[in-house]
Amino acid sequence: MKVVFERPESLTPAPFRYCPGCGHSLIHRLLAESVDALGIREKTIGIAPVGCAVFAYDYFNFDMLEVAHGRPPAAATAMKKVLPDRIIFAYQGDGDLAAIGTAETVHAANRGERVTCIFVNNAVYGMTGGQMAPTTVVGQETTTSPGGRIPLRDGYPLDLSEMLGIAAGSVYIERTSVSNPKNILKTKKAIKKAFEVQLADKGFSMVEILSPCPTNWKMTPTEAARWVDETMTQFFPLKVIKDVA
Ligand code: SF4
Repeated sequence: MKVVFERPESLTPAPFRYCPGCGHSLIHRLLAESVDALGIREKTIGIAPVGCAVFAYDYFNFDMLEVAHGRPPAAATAMKKVLPDRIIFAYQGDGDLAAIGTAETVHAANRGERVTCIFVNNAVYGMTGGQMAPTTVVGQETTTSPGGRIPLRDGYPLDLSEMLGIAAGSVYIERTSVSNPKNILKTKKAIKKAFEVQLADKGFSMVEILSPCPTNWKMTPTEAARWVDETMTQFFPLKVIKDVA
């Protein structure tokens, strides 16, 4: 049987420049398919991060903005205030959302901003060469945690989604992964639901997606996907963290 993958309208024809096995390509596609399914392409505005997905504006066929490192939730807040009928999302990695942008993320969630964060967690600083990130798991080897992350020396992995779950203004937070077909389908459903929460004007929504970074993890794409399932989920269990939608 010949399988034909049609390009969603919300993706441009630009070929992805991500490494083989990187989760960003999959997540871009799932996001584009969700926007198409909801028929909101003409009113969607995305914000690209600083990080490996910095060129996201090349790939999405709707309005995109680039802002300073970690500031997408603040920029999303401003855009939603002046353009309340638009669907605004911030696409961010763990360095962008859970390190330099922690304050912006926490306050946007706590204020209950009607925006959506797509949080791509690959447990490492990808673009700058694989340094330890707040989400690097215990024992994980990075260029700045040789021998593996040791809590007494390096601190513990930060579970920002759980933290945001106790914020009064957060409405829907789910953690998924793109490590296998079942979880890929769940991720698409979660992204669509996050947009639906925004469409219903209910409050802050976020989907955290555990995503392989084979290059910095020094694994093959298959090993990286398995590592997400077997190791990363021990520290970041896949689940609905909050749903009061
Ligand atoms: S370095 Fe990692 S996150 Fe960046 S494009 Fe390559 S695989 Fe993806």
